[in-house]
Amino acid sequence: MTQELHIIGGGLAGSEAAWQAAEAGVPVVLHEMRPQVGTFAHQTGNFAEMVCSNSFRSDDDERNAVGLLHWEMAAAGGLIMEMARQHRLPAGGALAVDREAFSQAVTDRLRAHPLISVAEGEVTELPRDGHWIVATGPLTSGALADSIRAETGAESLAFFDAIAPIVYTESIDMSVAWRQSRYDKGETEEEQKAYLNCPMTKPQYEAFIDALLAADKTEFHDGETAKYFDGCLPIEVMAERGRETLRHGPMKPVGLTNAHKPEEKAYAVVQLRRDNALGTLYNIVGFQTKMKYGAQASVFRMIPGLENASFARLGGIHRNTFINSPTLLDVQMRMRARPNIRFAGQITGVEGYVESASMGLLAGRMAAAEIKGSDLPPPPFTTAMGALINHITGGAEAKTFQPMNVNFGLFPPLEEARGGRKGRKDRYKGYTDRAKEDFAQWLAAQS
Ligand SMILES: Cc1cc2nc3c(=O)[nH]c(=O)nc-3n(C[C@H](O)[C@H](O)[C@H](O)COP(=O)(O)OP(=O)(O)OC[C@H]3O[C@@H](n4cnc5c(N)ncnc54)[C@H](O)[C@@H]3O)c2cc1C
Repeated sequence: MTQELHIIGGGLAGSEAAWQAAEAGVPVVLHEMRPQVGTFAHQTGNFAEMVCSNSFRSDDDERNAVGLLHWEMAAAGGLIMEMARQHRLPAGGALAVDREAFSQAVTDRLRAHPLISVAEGEVTELPRDGHWIVATGPLTSGALADSIRAETGAESLAFFDAIAPIVYTESIDMSVAWRQSRYDKGETEEEQKAYLNCPMTKPQYEAFIDALLAADKTEFHDGETAKYFDGCLPIEVMAERGRETLRHGPMKPVGLTNAHKPEEKAYAVVQLRRDNALGTLYNIVGFQTKMKYGAQASVFRMIPGLENASFARLGGIHRNTFINSPTLLDVQMRMRARPNIRFAGQITGVEGYVESASMGLLAGRMAAAEIKGSDLPPPPFTTAMGALINHITGGAEAKTFQPMNVNFGLFPPLEEARGGRKGRKDRYKGYTDRAKEDFAQWLAAQS
């Protein structure tokens, strides 16, 4: 008899993982703690509950990375996409859904599947034996989080994300910014030039602080504590503590010489650090923030060198349980130390409904293949799912790992011969054309 797959968490990721594995012929036990044990954000006992917005974001599969993820999930027979399309609401180019009808439909389909059984109740410990997927999401229950922490070490499990904005490297004005690590620290030239630096004069700094203080901010949700204050203050909170605080913190100008104007001493410097192995993304160091998205873009574009910045993702601070996947997981999303356990969904350090569901899709397929006696290689990293899994299991910098949305900065750049397109929109079309071809081949190899 085929061995069972156990999945903890019937959210976006766990629901998709259960569907994929069951459709591959593997019996699944889906463990869900709601409604017996709740979270501050979930309202129902249904699977795949959307806790906040009712949107799966852009549905443009030609020029948008999340739209491409929709396309790939649908191509792979994804339940989440099928139900989202069945229950879609008019929303322009976005895929918005009737959230209640959507999660009820996912619940009904999973409960009706002959190979899926549901075990109600909280799982409080990482299991020792059998095949498991942990998909317990950003609000993983306390007991299970303790058990995960005991296995991974405290430094590899975070309870808050503190995301600094991430900028596409190509959109940084290198006639203003220069490459240098503070005090030229590092053994190799690469290390000595690891950071990008954006200099500010005194008037520019003062105007920046004024804009920060005036910007619209988001409030914490009920149940989100302010524990984060220990380690990673939002920049606007630092600015509120005193106008000079940032200049003595993340924006200190010491140990740096402007390569374009060596004789000019900057009043403050904003540093950016490489965010992925490809070098296509840089994060703004220490700039975690609770400013609203619209305000962030305009405030950050006041930084010299970032006037035309394109953001792969904006900053934020949220209650979010996630593991340090680049160090803990292999490319099969298995825990290196406990290979009978896979992780999927937001707990792996992807961010958002769609990204989480897509990692559930992969984990479900990979676990099913393993139970049936083979290894399923991840999709090529020219695809949206491949780019995401590559990022979390190795492409991201482990030391500064923070949750990530899908975006074209995670994709390997187009080769000149295959792309050669100049405009951004055409380039994005080049990415999605390549991804669709490669994803279709990856799927075909499994049939
Ligand atoms: C307040 C808040 C607002 C958000 N807003 C948005 C948004 O607007 N747009 C967006 O795209 N994303 C948003 N997110 C992120 C979104 O919730 C996740 O991306 C997505 O739900 C993750 O899917 P998941 O399956 O990994 O986790 P979830 O969907 O959270 O599913 C995890 C499941 O595991 C269950 N569970 C937890 N612990 C246990 C246990 N020990 N035993 C058994 N079951 C357990 C939970 O009850 C839950 O059903 C938000 C998150 C939060 C917390």
